[in-house]
Amino acid sequence: MSQKLDPQFHKELDAFGCHDFTQCMNCGHCTAVCGLSENKVAFPRKIIRYVQLGLKDKLLKSPEPWLCYYCGDCSQTCPRQANPGETMMSVRRWLTTQYDWTGLARKFYLSPLWEVTALALVAAFVVALFLLFHGPIVTDRVELNTFAPVVWVEFGDWVLAVGLGSLLLINAIRMASFILSIERVRKIPLTLWLSELRTLVIHFFTQKRWRDCPAPTRWWKHVLLVSGYLTMMLLVIGMLRWFQTNGSHWRVIDLLGYYATGVLLFFTGEAILGRLRRRDEIHKYSHLSDWTFLILLFVTSLTGILVHVFRLAGLAMPTYVTYVVHLAVAVPMLVVEVPFGKWSHLAYRPLALYLLAIRSRLEEAEAAVSLTDVPQPSPA
Ligand code: SF4
Ligand code: SF4
Repeated sequence: MSQKLDPQFHKELDAFGCHDFTQCMNCGHCTAVCGLSENKVAFPRKIIRYVQLGLKDKLLKSPEPWLCYYCGDCSQTCPRQANPGETMMSVRRWLTTQYDWTGLARKFYLSPLWEVTALALVAAFVVALFLLFHGPIVTDRVELNTFAPVVWVEFGDWVLAVGLGSLLLINAIRMASFILSIERVRKIPLTLWLSELRTLVIHFFTQKRWRDCPAPTRWWKHVLLVSGYLTMMLLVIGMLRWFQTNGSHWRVIDLLGYYATGVLLFFTGEAILGRLRRRDEIHKYSHLSDWTFLILLFVTSLTGILVHVFRLAGLAMPTYVTYVVHLAVAVPMLVVEVPFGKWSHLAYRPLALYLLAIRSRLEEAEAAVSLTDVPQPSPA
């Protein structure tokens, strides 16, 4: 089958952070070094070759970029300093823009103006909602639920969750159609989709392949970070009416908030410091999207815990104002990052493993069928 080459593709990918791959001489050392590369799904050399040749269709069909957890081992040992780890990262950013049907992901990844404007517009919308519709402001004690009725905030959370989840789901379906091809997707029986669902769930919650990378502490850190996200999601989407209350008393449920905030503040703070120092291989190169993601997550966590501190201290106005600031940072972060930005990798990575598992079961079945097609010798 003929493949379209795009000789200008390297320029396109350069804008996604990839600068050094032109140095690659395809020696294959990185693939040999990578603890996650396997015979059937070998990387990163193959992916770098696709990039060099401008084989965009091949890249779109490749789940391999999502199988890299960016340990940096291959970049450290590349004899040409071609930075294969960062190339894989840049290809993931490019793929995220290709899966996104709205075109917004591409705008946000490539234009700081677009990203900052989108964040500012959503933040302004949140502040305007509070200015226009906030409840009575009680100042002699903290009445957060009077200022921001929990049923309305909970309704907003659900609208956001369903809206952003739907956008991400559509992008995930597009990813599946690229990797498996539409013809194949149609052939896959429902039972196969269902039987491999456990792969999706296990890898979403554990990211356990990361343990095969040379620095297993990074796996632990990422698992804790994801547990922080999930705990916070549980509190604000499923348990808000218990989590957000009036008064200045302490409740047992606050322990969950401390856990989520502590984990998010610690690990985002550590990552920000790492990117500032640029000592580790994985922190040497930072794309704008890396900074916005980390800073927004850090500020969201910080303002969240400040709301709690002010509420416990009985400071009414600081509680209300910080609450508005908290949502004016958290909501734009979710709107930009979940379906269009870095957070989408939480869905795409386990999905790639799920699609690979389905593809390999399908190939086994197809191989078995083609064997039965071979004419058998007639008995003598
Ligand atoms: S990226 Fe480096 S190690 Fe990998 S194939 Fe190219 S030159 Fe070899
Ligand atoms: S960064 Fe790590 S996981 Fe990714 S390709 Fe290189 S060695 Fe493999």
